[in-house]
Order: sequence, then structure tokens, then C-alpha cells
Amino acid sequence: LGTHSSPLRESNGKRIGTLIVFHDITRLRRLETVRREFAANVSHEIKTPLTAIKGFVETLLGGAVDDPEAARRFLRIIEKHADRLTAIIEDLMKLSEIEQKGRNRGIGLKREAMAPVIRNAVEVCRVRADEKKIAVEVDCDEAVVAEINAHFLEQAVVNLVDNALKYSGTGKAVRVRSRLIKDSVEIRIEDEGIGIPGSHLPRLFERFYRVDKSRSRKEGGTGLGLAIVKHIVQAHGGKIDVESTPGKGSTFIIRLPTVGGVNGTDPPECGSA
Ligand code: ADP
Repeated sequence: LGTHSSPLRESNGKRIGTLIVFHDITRLRRLETVRREFAANVSHEIKTPLTAIKGFVETLLGGAVDDPEAARRFLRIIEKHADRLTAIIEDLMKLSEIEQKGRNRGIGLKREAMAPVIRNAVEVCRVRADEKKIAVEVDCDEAVVAEINAHFLEQAVVNLVDNALKYSGTGKAVRVRSRLIKDSVEIRIEDEGIGIPGSHLPRLFERFYRVDKSRSRKEGGTGLGLAIVKHIVQAHGGKIDVESTPGKGSTFIIRLPTVGGVNGTDPPECGSA
């Protein structure tokens, strides 16, 4: 708690009391801590690949460059770390774009059909799905219309489908479904992958939080995917939930407010977005 006090006087200057103002600075302090931790995390995440790149470059300059086979191997490793840096920076830029737009005039929502957004997102994940021999099953209610930013929502679904593929074994099933349930649109991304222990669920959507750091790295994860999803869903006035059983699989559920539009009927202008 921060306090500030000043004397209270009558117009003739006679002191009649003291004005004490209490500021609740807990929230400010918490924000400050979050900001500081974030900066430390970013620095750490960027420093790791940079240190590796520098190390392998030094090894090459120290003589390894004369052994073509070793040189090629080291260059591949350098390339992998450079790709990692690019992925981190791209994800940081996406996060800050959504945050900034959310803070200013919003991300710009338009009434649009949901099914094409989901199909496009699944298509973006095709390469990884094929690599893992996973046929992503899509089951969308074609009539669902909602107030969305198609570009950002596609990004959120891409991140969730990509995770479902990353954290599932070869040949497992991934299902994406969208439905209108009462006055909200539900998008479910379901996998039969490794699952997430309950103790990790409360922090799962924090930036750079990972259950298994080495698995995330191996799969090319940045630890920012779910934070991006959360920000996008919140910018739509929606909610994101997860249900998971270790060893059995996970289901991520996006719930967005809708303006209706089922079976081609014109929805009421209720301004619910
Ligand atoms: P990452 O880039 O590491 O995948 P995310 O923010 O997308 O980062 O996810 C955070 C962590 O949550 C992941 O590192 C992983 O441990 C866990 N996770 C996310 N999605 C799934 C899933 N579908 N199945 C199992 N674990 C998951």
C-alpha cells in the first residue's frame, strides 16, 4: 500500500486536519514483477541459441571447417538455432501485435463464417500432420457465424492443432470440431497424445511455460503458442479451457460469443461481441 498525506486547511490558513490518500499498489507491483520476469525470460530464451551459434562458429573457425563432414554437421546445428531465434522473435511480434491492438481499438471483429477459418488452420498444419501420419478429422457446423477476426482466430486454431500434433505419437488421432452451443461457439481441438498433468494446468497459458522443456525444444516450440492463443481468444471476448489426462490426451476448448446465424437465418443485432 502506498500513502500520501497533506494538511487540510480552511481558507484563512487554519489547519483543520490531514488528508491521507491510500493507493493500492499491489496490482502495479505485480504488473512490474510480471514485466521484469518476462524480460528476463526473453533474454534467457534468446541467449541460449545465440551461445550455441557462437560456440559452433568458434569450433569451425578453430579448424573444424577443414573437415567437410563435421563442418556440414555444425552448420546444420547453427541453422537449427537460427531458426529457433526466428521462431521466438516471430511469436513475440505476434503477441505484442495482439496486445497492442487489444489495448487500443480492439482487433477488429467482423461477422464471418467459422468453418472456413478452421479448415484453413488445419490446412496450415498439413505438413506436420503428414509427417506424423495423423489425419486431422474436421467436423464443423457450416452454419456457425460469429464476430471474429479471421486472421487471428486462424492463428489460434493453428497453434492448438500444431500442439495436438507435436505432443502426439505417430498415427494417433486429432479431431477439430466446432458447434453452436446456446449463445456461444465452441471450438474443440482434441488429441490422443501425451496429456498434461493437472499440476501444470494453472500455469499452462503463461509465456514460456512448458511442461517438458526438452520435448518442446525438440518439436521446435517457443513456449509462446498458448499465450498467443489466450490473448487472441480474450480479444474476442471469449474463454479458453483445457481438459487433459496424462497418457490419454488433451482437449483445448475455445468458447466465443456469437451473434447466431444458424441455418442461414439472419441473427438479431444484439451487439453481443
Ligand atoms: P510450446 O511452444 O512449448 O509448444 P505452448 O505455449 O504452445 O509452447 O505450450 C506450452 C506447453 O504446454 C508445451 O511446452 C507442452 O508442454 C504443453 N502442451 C501444449 N499443448 C499440449 C498438448 N496438446 N498435449 C500435451 N501437452 C501440451
